[in-house]
Amino acid sequence: MKKQRLLILTLFTALLLAFTGCSQSPETKESPKEKPQTQKVSSASASGKKDRPNIKILATGGTIAGADKSKTSTTEYKSGVVGVESLIEAVPEMKDIANVSGEQIVNVGSTNIDNKILLKLTKRINKLLASDDVDGIVVTHGTDTLEETAYFLNLTVKSDKPVVVVGSMRPSTAISADGPSNLYNAVKVAGTPEAKGKGALVVLNDRIASARYVTKTNTTATDTFKSEEMGYVGTIADDIYFNNEITRRHTKDTDFSVSNLDQLPQVDIMYGYQNDGSYLFDAAVKAGAKGIVYAGSGNGSLSDAAEKGAVSAVKKGVTVVRSTRTGNGAVTPNQDYAEKDLLASNSLNPQKARILLMLALTKTDDPHKIQAYFNEY
Ligand code: ASP
Repeated sequence: MKKQRLLILTLFTALLLAFTGCSQSPETKESPKEKPQTQKVSSASASGKKDRPNIKILATGGTIAGADKSKTSTTEYKSGVVGVESLIEAVPEMKDIANVSGEQIVNVGSTNIDNKILLKLTKRINKLLASDDVDGIVVTHGTDTLEETAYFLNLTVKSDKPVVVVGSMRPSTAISADGPSNLYNAVKVAGTPEAKGKGALVVLNDRIASARYVTKTNTTATDTFKSEEMGYVGTIADDIYFNNEITRRHTKDTDFSVSNLDQLPQVDIMYGYQNDGSYLFDAAVKAGAKGIVYAGSGNGSLSDAAEKGAVSAVKKGVTVVRSTRTGNGAVTPNQDYAEKDLLASNSLNPQKARILLMLALTKTDDPHKIQAYFNEY
């Protein structure tokens, strides 16, 4: 009897074991498949360094390098605290897709990125990309003025290798910090041969945007970067999908070179509003402006008072470009304004019109030539 019971028990245990083996959940079943995949990537990284692109990360600060005592606060943090090595260490997965190295250019909030830093950044990028040892550049940057730096690089980098500007909306210490995945994606895009020849790109929130069109649209949300009229260049969903071509002139195909420049001409931005006055233009001219971008209402309209100030500035040799405060649409070179040499920014927002006007003024002060730049870039 005892022997029989033992036999039944053994049989039952064997059956139970066999059953458990067959009824593994899909997740458990997939894990052995995942293992070789992970191994494959890491074995490639150990043995095939040459197979992976060499990506240089140039860090400038911003929220992506920001930190706070609280993990739950996403607004009360300090920008530009964490150094580039820590940014790289925080995303070890990057090493599986690229040979990554870092350089600290500055470590500031992006409202403190000035012309001097822009020149330093472009010159460094041009030097690095001239070398066969560098396949692509990632610039980490605060989001507040990211679009200005990206557009500057779009016009002044002299290489068709990928240049990707990246930031984050949440500091590195926050729950669900978006910096690590944005940085990983930026490195992935910078190492992709398909990203070549597209000008400076901006990567955040799984989207790839052209520096020419993208703008920050929301003060705090992670989906703040939009290219509303033109759409994104591509998306990242594990793989990279490019959807749109860049038709505006950029990088190697521009008239601008900063290699011999130590400074850029002063260009100020003025905002149009009801009851504004000509004295704003007078003040800018007195402060040394060589160019003024006017963020006018609607299609770059000026009040009579503002127009008086603008025309007076033009007569003193200052170039005035009409942009718009609306956030979208092209400002057209209406005849009345064109006759007074009040130029039109085309579809550049005021902050990007300032970037182009600074560069334009390094070449010429001829209003027709400058208007042609605005039509082309
Ligand atoms: N204030 C920050 C900066 O631009 C904002 C950010 O990076 O998101 O540096």
